[in-house]
Amino acid sequence: MKNRGYFGNFGGAFLPEILVATFDELEEMYEAVRHDPTFWQEYEQLMASYSCRPTPVTYAENLTRHFGGARIFIKREDLNHTGAHKANNVMGQGLLVRRMGKTRVIAETGAGQHGVATATMAARFGFDCTIYMGEVDVERQRPNVFWMEQLGATVVPVKDGTRILKDAINSAFRDWVTKMDSTHYVLGTACGPHPFPEMVAWFQSIVGKEARRQLMEREGRLPTRVYACVGGGSNAMGVFSGFFDDDVELIGVEAAGRGLDSGEHAARLCSDDASVGVAQGYKTYFLQDDNGQMRETHSIAAGLDYVGVSPILSDLKEKGRVRFEGATDQEVIEAVRLTMRKEGVIPALESAHAFARAFKEAPTLSSEDIILINQSGRGDKDIFTIADAFDDPKWKQFIIEKARQYHA
Ligand SMILES: *Cc1c(COP(=O)(O)O)cnc(C)c1O
Repeated sequence: MKNRGYFGNFGGAFLPEILVATFDELEEMYEAVRHDPTFWQEYEQLMASYSCRPTPVTYAENLTRHFGGARIFIKREDLNHTGAHKANNVMGQGLLVRRMGKTRVIAETGAGQHGVATATMAARFGFDCTIYMGEVDVERQRPNVFWMEQLGATVVPVKDGTRILKDAINSAFRDWVTKMDSTHYVLGTACGPHPFPEMVAWFQSIVGKEARRQLMEREGRLPTRVYACVGGGSNAMGVFSGFFDDDVELIGVEAAGRGLDSGEHAARLCSDDASVGVAQGYKTYFLQDDNGQMRETHSIAAGLDYVGVSPILSDLKEKGRVRFEGATDQEVIEAVRLTMRKEGVIPALESAHAFARAFKEAPTLSSEDIILINQSGRGDKDIFTIADAFDDPKWKQFIIEKARQYHA
């Protein structure tokens, strides 16, 4: 069992003894449903009736004309319920929790998107739901905290340490250890101890399966390149997995933040700043210092602002199967602006990393080429950040007026 959950040199399950039985139970259930075709059918039906699946592939005709190179297609994960691919993972885990007979779910969240998705799933399935969130993040992400609470979740602001995501992760594990019989920990991305990376990637593989079929139906051929942004790596794994066995180039785009040389980024696989280590229960590339202390990361997109990365992607990098690139905050804002104006589509800041890189490369390809961009989510949630970045004076006035109303 030594190599359980390893992808090359990465992955594994580094667990406290007390959690081993719980992970065994989870792995057993995951293995059972993975080999049960009725489970996947049930999952597809749930996602069709609750989350607009299959999401379409949109031909970006105006962007294609603008760049004059490859033809650009967009896989529309933004059209999922709650506005991102995260729904695929949480609803899949919801079905699993029901099969395990558990009644309570917990999760940790930084930006809050995974918290909202989990709270939605819990409401739908009738589970109790507790979300751990660093106190600093609770303050920064009030709109998401508001929705989690309205959806019936208890949001626990974590006051330990630096009061951000990693502290919330610790608290969630501590909770789990005391309530393993009733509780499932809904991990939000393709990271963490086995079986989470593989299991989350499996739920997200619905994206790549659909995209491959849709392009074949529409164009009768496969794309030349597929682009996806990489936070923890779940949307990238989802779309890439549809093309692993094909002659299709796969490009993962990380947050280059204020520049790869600035030290203010979240680039684990496209920079030399990360190194291999074990943390949070698994082995992968982490942005850490020489003593294994996690470094501070930065991205304009909260969902990409993470120190680790999927062990499956670390392995695919070493194998040379996926190419990793970065997009800076500045490039991302320009990509959002252009995509809105040309296509009437608002990509999430996370997704816009994939757009920014694709836009750089599209002109170097020919009209014979097809590129597919995975739009992991919609940008409506980013209105505060995007309005600031665009420096919109009317928005500023609106915020000032709102604040004034509360003071009066
Ligand atoms: C959370 C999030 C991401 C990052 O997560 P991955 O696991 O890397 O996919 C990307 N895009 C959107 C819209 C998100 O909400």
